[in-house]
Parts: sequence; structure tokens; C-alpha cells
Amino acid sequence: MKNPLADFLHQQICAADEGGMGEKMKTLITIITACAAICAVIHTHIHTACADTGLLWLVNKENSLPADFHPENLCEFKGVKLSLPAKEAFIKMLAAMESDGIYGLRLQSAYRSYEYQRVIFDQRVKELMAKGQNREEAVANASHSIQLPGASEHQLGLALDVSIDGKLSQKFATTDAGRWLEENCYKFGFIIRYPQAKTDITHIIYEPWHLRYVGIPHATIIKEESLTLEEYHRYLANIPMYVVWGDGYYFLVRYADILLETVLPETAEHNTEISRATPARNSGFIITQRKMKGTERS
Ligand SMILES: [Zn+2]
Repeated sequence: MKNPLADFLHQQICAADEGGMGEKMKTLITIITACAAICAVIHTHIHTACADTGLLWLVNKENSLPADFHPENLCEFKGVKLSLPAKEAFIKMLAAMESDGIYGLRLQSAYRSYEYQRVIFDQRVKELMAKGQNREEAVANASHSIQLPGASEHQLGLALDVSIDGKLSQKFATTDAGRWLEENCYKFGFIIRYPQAKTDITHIIYEPWHLRYVGIPHATIIKEESLTLEEYHRYLANIPMYVVWGDGYYFLVRYADILLETVLPETAEHNTEISRATPARNSGFIITQRKMKGTERS
């Protein structure tokens, strides 16, 4: 593998030779060269052994997506675009809901590009300014209900807004569909991303209509422990591992600050998924291994 840093350091050694630089300096440069080569090998292993699914990326004002981020696996469903795992889970969830006698759930919105998020944010700011707020107030207030461009997880293709009457309203929580989702959506890998009791953590109003797909094991832990996604990553970072049952399997969930080469053979095995905690390249990793089949109480 081509390593620009190693090439650069090699040139420095040659220059040190020609310039009559001391042996200590040459040794130091050689050590740094070796370290750079090792880092390149580990980096390559991480990329070949595990692809970042992005399923657990925390996206908010502090962890925003670049304007040019587009999810890879977007597909069409009922007139909107969403990522493939979210679509498959939503179809299963809809079928389960209907078999419980609840019909009419509509998918209002899912994937939104950075540019479209800017359009709807600016629209909200204009509405608030028309009501007499100055620009600063309007931007601050708009950001409680609409995320700034880049800070919306709709850009991931993993967030869905649902309704039964075409309106995104907190009254949705008291409908049969809203109550069913609150109780059951975790079984299909979704969480109510902005809960009523956690607005001081999410900085977003209660949105019973906004679901985020994170996968069944994670949605189950988040539900069991009553966490937000913000809290979940901190929670995992403080426990060695979490065993959770869902979808007929046991899952082992762990958090790692970095993926060392020693854990890679284990993570490369089948039934293992890895997601960074945030879009940032220096964020930690959540490793999810699907273990044996089983029942909840066995
Ligand atoms: Zn939403």
C-alpha cells in the first residue's frame, strides 16, 4: 500500500544523510517511519474487516453531516426515499401493526438532502420572522423543531416521520397508531428519537411521529433503559458489554474507542456489524455480534 507519510519520512532520512545530520535524528525518523507503516496496516485491516454501517451515527447540532453526504443504499417506498434496512424494517412493522388491527399509518417523510433541509429550515425562520421575531430569535426557535442543515438525521435516510392524518402533531401520541408505536417499534429496530421526557438532552421538542432506525438490539436496549441516542453512546462506553435478546437471537453489544488489530479477527466473523458512534472519523465504534438463537427467558 502506498503510504505518503512513509515516503515523506524516507525523503527526510535521505536529506538527513546528505546534510550530515546526527545518528540520533536519523534513528528517530526511522522509528516514526515504522510507526506510520504500522498505522497504515491497521487502517487497511479496519477497512477490509468491517464496513461502518452508519446505523448508530448520532447526528445533531454537535455531530453534523457534511453537505455532500448522501446515503449509499437509498430506495423508493410509498413516494419517499429511505435506506434499505429502514425500509425493510418499516414494511415488517406495518404488517405487524395491521395484524393488530391498526391501519392507516402514513409515511410522511424520510430521506431529506442537506439542500432540502436548508429550504425547510429557512422557511420556518421566515414564518417566525413574519410573526415579529428578529432573525436571531427566529433561528434559535426554529432549531427546536427543525434541525439545521447537516444536523438532521433525515439526511441519513434512517429517520421516518409518520402520521395517520397527514399532520405531524403531538396528538399522534394519543392515537392507536401512536400508542402502538411507542410500545412496539423497538421490536422492529426503531426508536422514538425525541421523547417527551428528554427534550433537555435532545434539544428538540417531543416528536412522537419521528422514528429512527438503529436496528433491533440497539432499539431494545434504548427502550429497556429509557435512553436517547445521545445517552446510549455514553451508556455503552461505560459498560464492558451488553447481552440483549431480540428477533429470536441473542446479541452481544460492545463499545470500543479504537479497533485494534487484536480484536479484528473476532469482528471480521460473520454476523458482526460495526457502526461508528458519530459521523466523525475519530469517534468510537459500536460492535454488534449476533450470537445464538434463543428465547428471551431461556
Ligand atoms: Zn423527522
